[in-house]
Amino acid sequence: MKNKNESFIDDILIFDAHCDTANALLDDPSYFIKSYQSHLDIEKIKKGGLNAQIFAIWVNNVYSPFRTIKQALLMYNALEKNIFNPGYGIKVTSTTEMDSAIKNGKLACWLSLEGGHIIKNSIDILEFFYSLGVRCMTLTHFKNTDWADSSGDKPKWDGLNKLGKNIIAKMDELSMAIDVSHSSDKTVEDVLEVTSKPVLASHSCARAICDIPRNIPDNLIKEIADRKGYIGINFFPGFLKKTISEQVNKNLEKYKKEYQEKIKGSEDNPDIINQADLELFTKIVEGNDKTDLNAVIDQIVHMADIGGVECVGLGSDFDGIPSTPTDLTDVSCYPTLVTGLYERGFNKEEAEKIMGMNLYNFFKNFEE
Ligand SMILES: [Zn+2]
Repeated sequence: MKNKNESFIDDILIFDAHCDTANALLDDPSYFIKSYQSHLDIEKIKKGGLNAQIFAIWVNNVYSPFRTIKQALLMYNALEKNIFNPGYGIKVTSTTEMDSAIKNGKLACWLSLEGGHIIKNSIDILEFFYSLGVRCMTLTHFKNTDWADSSGDKPKWDGLNKLGKNIIAKMDELSMAIDVSHSSDKTVEDVLEVTSKPVLASHSCARAICDIPRNIPDNLIKEIADRKGYIGINFFPGFLKKTISEQVNKNLEKYKKEYQEKIKGSEDNPDIINQADLELFTKIVEGNDKTDLNAVIDQIVHMADIGGVECVGLGSDFDGIPSTPTDLTDVSCYPTLVTGLYERGFNKEEAEKIMGMNLYNFFKNFEE
């Protein structure tokens, strides 16, 4: 599968911590091979030299509480039918399996659950997803769960409640990585208190650069880094730059009424609300300023300044974000990002860490 046309990155491991391709496959099973609107498909993977990817199984909160498991299983099935079975990628659950997939020229595919509402407060269901090969769970999405506060919601539990702490303990026991992207600051603090393992923020940016609750403050960046954790930079311009985040919020206000009209009378139909959510999501980027990969590199530089160059890497959120930097439009652009890192003064070893080795080492440390 690996046929990099950019020879200078031939020996660089490229490993990204978050994409929503599984959700896109649910709508269109040929998404991965069609190669026109996707951020991540066979051709673009070859061109960009992507070696390994964490595929999120993201379920919209609107499916809670009754249909989260069904949606997650449909997505798992879509990955199996369209990526694993045809041999485009291999599902992996350890760095050893990842090494062997890459050696055989295949995309190494890790699985994660996004977020904790999917398991319906059940440790048994968490174990079941582990048995399917899931090795990571994002604790919340935009809303609080019954056991953890989200950065996108009003605090309900002051971080993690007792059930939340039990779930974290079970994840530790299973060796399932804890992903704190979307979590509130207090939830992250509680997680760091309960777990002894390295923690991951798969697709988050720095609040010091773009001051929104979804991003991570410097003190937590430092703590995650000190504990051998990993932070993957999200490529969504609204998380990268404060001015764009303000434009996104204006658009949200602008389309609020239209959205509410659309879902009126369908409040108990999650499929209709999910569709309306996705449509709203594409409208929030209307008229926004353009940005380029320097905004991603600014974030990388900041994370490295605060936590050291070993803590930061890719968390693209490809196929889950409605816009991207103009020169980082999909996975085929990774060689351009490497060039950008060199231009900003990172040496080869540092660029290799950022592009994939840091995330690889995160899992390696995690397995110990
Ligand atoms: Zn997310």
